[in-house]
Amino acid sequence: MNIHEHQAKAVLSEFGVAVPRGYAAYTVDEAAEAATKLGGPVFVVKSQIHAGGRGKGKFEGLGPDAKGGVRVVKSVEDVKTNAAEMLGRVLVTHQTGPKGKQVNRLYIEEGAAIAKEFYLSLLVDRETSRVSVVASTEGGMDIEDVAHSTPEKIHTFSIDPVTGVWPEHGRRLAKSLGLTGGLAKEASTLLGQLYTAFMAKDMAMLEINPLIVTADDHLRVLDAKVSFDSNALFRHPEIVALRDESEEDPKEIEASKYDLSYIALDGEIGCMVNGAGLAMATMDIIKLYGAEPANFLDVGGGATREKVTAAFKIIMADPNVKGILVNIFGGIARCDILAQGVVEAVKETGLAVPLVVRLEGTNAQQGKDIINNSGLNVIAANDLSDGAEKIVKAVRGAA
Ligand code: GDP
Ligand code: MN
Repeated sequence: MNIHEHQAKAVLSEFGVAVPRGYAAYTVDEAAEAATKLGGPVFVVKSQIHAGGRGKGKFEGLGPDAKGGVRVVKSVEDVKTNAAEMLGRVLVTHQTGPKGKQVNRLYIEEGAAIAKEFYLSLLVDRETSRVSVVASTEGGMDIEDVAHSTPEKIHTFSIDPVTGVWPEHGRRLAKSLGLTGGLAKEASTLLGQLYTAFMAKDMAMLEINPLIVTADDHLRVLDAKVSFDSNALFRHPEIVALRDESEEDPKEIEASKYDLSYIALDGEIGCMVNGAGLAMATMDIIKLYGAEPANFLDVGGGATREKVTAAFKIIMADPNVKGILVNIFGGIARCDILAQGVVEAVKETGLAVPLVVRLEGTNAQQGKDIINNSGLNVIAANDLSDGAEKIVKAVRGAA
């Protein structure tokens, strides 16, 4: 789960991290109020969307020369003018995709005088089973670009979960960033705070770009992007409360209500599968036959009829879906229950695209009978590759 920059900064400041003062604003009046409270002389008006690259982003309808989604201004009047221009407008950045994201809230922050910009992130490194720290002197830029053009400028080390952060880690970070004296001490303190926050809140990733040295020689977190491990959210209701559903795919929100593992993708074949491994294999085999999956969907082992009906409706609500492949291996899940769910969903919403069903395992025959007797126009498949081949053919034939 992702949160907004202003929320990430609030979470980090609970752990003592130094962030600039600021207030979230949903209206022009609130933006003006925030600026008045901050007092100036410099303000930053920041679009809050779940995507990076806002500074270099472009607003729809403002032309290519207009300023981006992060604007440094010098009066309350200018905060108002810029807030009015940004609120409700769609911002396109290299991370939003061409559709962009509508800016529904702003963060009004006191402006900082920047002497240097660094990059700093913490993330779960599955290879070492540890939290890794990534630091670079090349802040404010895309870290992927830095990794590509000057990989020697990226420094990485990991932290042993048993010992946590040691003074040695702090020195290592300071050295990576070329910091000495008071700034080195601040880097060390900051690393401890970030690591504590990361562990305490079950973060998956924490990215600070840029971390700056201010003109008066202090470290400040100027931008913060945080994502949380969704499997651990049950123990952080205060984080769940930060969720902004307007930033998420409505299909994924609907799926989460039914506890379905659903991820929307860009392809044309909707898939309904039980088991994450089988879902992955199904996506692979669809690609092998020359098409692209429209989603990842694992209805789970204990799938009920309601769950299957919901899942099927979510797939059919996707306008990109040109065909559906149901691939069920009944183990704990029973094929007859799944078949009932499919039939029920189709009766409610109709079936506008070809549907291929492959049922195997527990109660497979009952499941097949339910589908065959339903009067639905379903193409039966014998196995996984047969199913994939048939649905791709059906979709291509219809095109
Ligand atoms: P992003 O483009 O989505 O990563 O948004 P950032 O929060 O990183 O802002 C983009 C850029 O705006 C930063 O890299 C800074 O160069 C600049 N910026 C942000 N806040 C300030 C500020 O307080 N003062 C100044 N001078 N520049 C800022
Ligand atoms: Mn940034």
